[in-house]
Amino acid sequence: RFITLEGGEGAGKSTQLRALASVLRARGLEVVETREPGGSEGAEAIRAMLLTGGADRWNARAEALLFAAARADHIEKTIRPALARGAWVLSDRFLDSSRAYQGQGELTDEDILALHRIGSAGFLPDRTLFLTLPEAEAEARAHARDGDVSDRIGGRDRSFHRAVADAFVRFAADEPARVRAIDASGAAEAVTARLLAALDDLLS
Ligand code: C5P
Repeated sequence: RFITLEGGEGAGKSTQLRALASVLRARGLEVVETREPGGSEGAEAIRAMLLTGGADRWNARAEALLFAAARADHIEKTIRPALARGAWVLSDRFLDSSRAYQGQGELTDEDILALHRIGSAGFLPDRTLFLTLPEAEAEARAHARDGDVSDRIGGRDRSFHRAVADAFVRFAADEPARVRAIDASGAAEAVTARLLAALDDLLS
């Protein structure tokens, strides 16, 4: 099974991905933890180009193409081989992040989906778990952490992050079988339990 975790910065995706992976492993499953952009040698090299040099390094079209290229390599080198041997693959971000982030402004959602068709034959997750958090809580959490992405976060304003959150809400409404919104507030263990419940049908 291929599961993706999505959401804005500070929603706890990375922490939850680790927790979910260990629960699934305890059930005897092989689990591959991966992330976007990145997740394969080539895609990690593209990640380094994307996340350094400031928010103005790439124009919107170049950036979307780089994300799509990274994803194509990630799928071919990491995701498909793992699924082929029966592993579960958990990815911290995937296509829906590109739709939510790169699909704002100059490029439309159709553009991003077209790039994904060209790059990756439209390959989709079995389930996408979108972590939702009230804006104030997300901001507090995002500011409390450092990382290689701080210059990108700093370059964006509140209305951008609102538009990202709204986009994920739309995806969940448009594709309810694949995309589920999960309440990310409260204790980490409670959030993990909600995520697991949203995978119940895939686990049985
Ligand atoms: O929260 P995370 O560490 O995954 O954030 C990675 C950074 O890359 C964030 O600043 C996010 O806004 C950005 N990003 C993006 N487009 C994507 C995926 C991530 O702009 N498709």
